[in-house]
Amino acid sequence: MYPPAFNYSAPTSVEEVLATLAKEGEGARVLAGGQSLIPMMKLRLASPSYLVDINDVDGLDYITDVNGHVAIGALVRHNDIVKSELIGSTNHAMTDAAPWIADPIVRNRGTVCGSIAHCDPEGDWNSVMLAARAEVVAQSAAGERVIPIDDFIVDFFTNSLEPGEIVKEVRVPKYTGRGGGAYVKLERKIGDYATVGVATQLELGDDGKIAKAGIAMTAVNSKNTRAAAAEQVLVGETPSDELFREAGNAAAQASEPETNVRGTEEWKREVVSVYTRRGLETALAQAQAQA
Ligand SMILES: Cc1cc2nc3c(=O)[nH]c(=O)nc-3n(C[C@H](O)[C@H](O)[C@H](O)COP(=O)(O)OP(=O)(O)OC[C@H]3O[C@@H](n4cnc5c(N)ncnc54)[C@H](O)[C@@H]3O)c2cc1C
Repeated sequence: MYPPAFNYSAPTSVEEVLATLAKEGEGARVLAGGQSLIPMMKLRLASPSYLVDINDVDGLDYITDVNGHVAIGALVRHNDIVKSELIGSTNHAMTDAAPWIADPIVRNRGTVCGSIAHCDPEGDWNSVMLAARAEVVAQSAAGERVIPIDDFIVDFFTNSLEPGEIVKEVRVPKYTGRGGGAYVKLERKIGDYATVGVATQLELGDDGKIAKAGIAMTAVNSKNTRAAAAEQVLVGETPSDELFREAGNAAAQASEPETNVRGTEEWKREVVSVYTRRGLETALAQAQAQA
């Protein structure tokens, strides 16, 4: 099916993008990789009156190490994460998640920030961002604001951007101590969206106890969801199999999966529990391997 008619421009600077968005108002949408927006337009699930294509803007494809975090620009593609040594050495959950997203064609075009902005509860990146406690940098003609990822994700396909704002970058904090993370995903076949996904992150204190914990789930709630109670089970405790089992059960309780062709509600909860435990075991091994 063809999408409804729309106007289109491809500015070459951020300023021009922001000015166009401000001028065109609520009917305007950013076009990044187009891997979610174009299919939605073809299915008539989205009907923007104006597309502002950001692909010709120079300098938005950076992955940069800045004061305690890694900044990922709006035109960084999923495959750039697969290849990034900086991400590989600073965020294990991101390195884990990237090759699981779709197929090579989608990974070459689709962007991390586009996926974050899209807020699809079956999208993988927002769980990883929740576990890492990332921040989204929103920019409009009026200036910039930094939004914690928990506040950015509002609901099913809904973010907290105001009209005229774009996601300029996402900031992913680096571990402050010995840290590790994982993304464990169940999909029906290669390239599929998650039936269940769990992102985990752990940081250890000098005493070997868990200083920080991040756990978030994909495809089992109406939005990517932090398992806050499960995180609380872990913080301040000595890692153990029993503790990780308890955290897994707490995460499962925070999930609200639906029974559908991919499986029953009960089974998906069990997958959340097991995947949380497995992710934590991986994260712990990575953290303990650091000097
Ligand atoms: C066959 C297929 C399989 C897929 N499988 C997976 C999967 O397994 N896991 C997964 O996570 N995703 C999957 N996806 C989705 C893919 O990851 C998309 O790339 C991603 O969801 C959106 O990124 P994009 O750059 O393509 O955004 P676009 O499609 O260009 O835009 C998506 C939405 O975000 C907005 N947007 C984009 N960039 C910005 C910005 N910088 N600022 C403000 N708003 C912005 C757009 O206006 C639009 O509303 C799949 C897609 C396809 C086609």
